[in-house]
Amino acid sequence: MKQEKAVVVFSGGQDSTTCLFWAKEQFGEVEAVTFDYGQRHALEIECAKEIAQELGVKHHILDMSLLNQLAPNALTRQDIEVEEGEDGELPSTFVPGRNLLFLSFAGVLASQVGAKHLVTGVCETDFSGYPDCRDIFIKSLNVTLNLSMDDTFVIHTPLMWMNKAQAWGLADELDALEFVREKTLTCYNGIKADGCGECPACQLRNRGLDEYLNSKKEG
Ligand SMILES: [Zn+2]
Repeated sequence: MKQEKAVVVFSGGQDSTTCLFWAKEQFGEVEAVTFDYGQRHALEIECAKEIAQELGVKHHILDMSLLNQLAPNALTRQDIEVEEGEDGELPSTFVPGRNLLFLSFAGVLASQVGAKHLVTGVCETDFSGYPDCRDIFIKSLNVTLNLSMDDTFVIHTPLMWMNKAQAWGLADELDALEFVREKTLTCYNGIKADGCGECPACQLRNRGLDEYLNSKKEG
């Protein structure tokens, strides 16, 4: 795969930044695509830009504001609280079909730039009920993309079966733990690195980091 080109779906968060490092090791050429859908914090896009620049990766930013027009939600609207879903309920950050749309657009971009590989940080393990994060969905979309464009894309999901601690472990293996820790933005309150520590995204991220660092200490 060293000769081949990949497009990474990239938000500037922990998972997709780890995937970007992973892709840089796997593929000869890597480009990143970020979707601008009116994120609560414009800082997310800035973070993504800085990281792509620092890693010397060509960065495409696509306007997906129509997503907010279709489905206003807690990721885009200040007036909607970020809430974790109760049993069996989807969290208020859920945007129906988001990964379906993002990966489909990434597929179109990949065909335009001559990339055969698509990389996404979706993960079934920390699955908070997002149906389009499931492995079966990704496999199904892979078939659909290939049929729709008569091509042979391969969608890679390096984090699919990892928990957050293991995702930090992968970043560490790629010599990127400090980079990911300091430069990425996961926090729903728009605070880089270790974040606010309070929101659900920070809690998940920081718990995983503690767990990984502790397990490393115990060796
Ligand atoms: Zn936070």
